Amino acid sequence: MQYALLNGDRVEAVKGKTGFCVGCGQKVIAKCGSVKIHHWAHISLSHCDSWWENETLWHRQWKEVFSKQFREVSFYDEKLQEFHRADVHTSAGVTIELQNSSITFEELQSRECFYPKLIWVVNGLKFKGFKVLKSIPNPLNPLLNDYEFCDSEHLSLIRKTDALSQKSKPEIFTFYSQELKNIPVSSAFYSFSWKNAHQSWLQASCPIFIDLGGHFLYRLRRRHQISSNYSYLQLVSKKAFIRKYSET
Ligand SMILES: [Zn+2]
Repeated sequence: MQYALLNGDRVEAVKGKTGFCVGCGQKVIAKCGSVKIHHWAHISLSHCDSWWENETLWHRQWKEVFSKQFREVSFYDEKLQEFHRADVHTSAGVTIELQNSSITFEELQSRECFYPKLIWVVNGLKFKGFKVLKSIPNPLNPLLNDYEFCDSEHLSLIRKTDALSQKSKPEIFTFYSQELKNIPVSSAFYSFSWKNAHQSWLQASCPIFIDLGGHFLYRLRRRHQISSNYSYLQLVSKKAFIRKYSET
């Protein structure tokens, strides 16, 4: 954790000091070594946030783009009698969870239920076999209303009527096909491939922004279709994202 209570103030880790967890009130000790980022650590985590993952430099850098009062905000779940600490919780009531490691679908669901307005920022550099492929037309372009995207590495589409009738050998189209070639490709939308994908992220209900480093985030989007839903990426500037959620 970046913050703990020391003499009643919410402060960052101070070498050699013992403080108290803002959430569960238990003792925490300052860890100010030279390898990991300086942080507070519980002596025993047993009564604190079961969702908490070890804070990395990636977490810390993300938290620090938001103002101090938005970082590490604790909530108490009366029913479950559990503390949960949101990485970022803005004055607009938006919770941003920074996730550096994979997550089970059960935990993902419980967090999505717990926070009314949750947004995930996920460290995509930890994904194995994740590849941004090429720019595509906006999948929600009305000109594509009569088509469905096939969920394959090579971008192809079929007619919606063929999907509806579950035709065994539907006609396959690409964006080079005569009837689709005039639909403009957008630099904001991308197809991707993901070997051994984390299924939990593909099933999430709340918005997911994948951080691959650099100036942009890739929002994981889903086009609802008859055959099977199509997942794609929407490019979002990191600056715009931060500006949007920094407003007080
Ligand atoms: Zn605690």
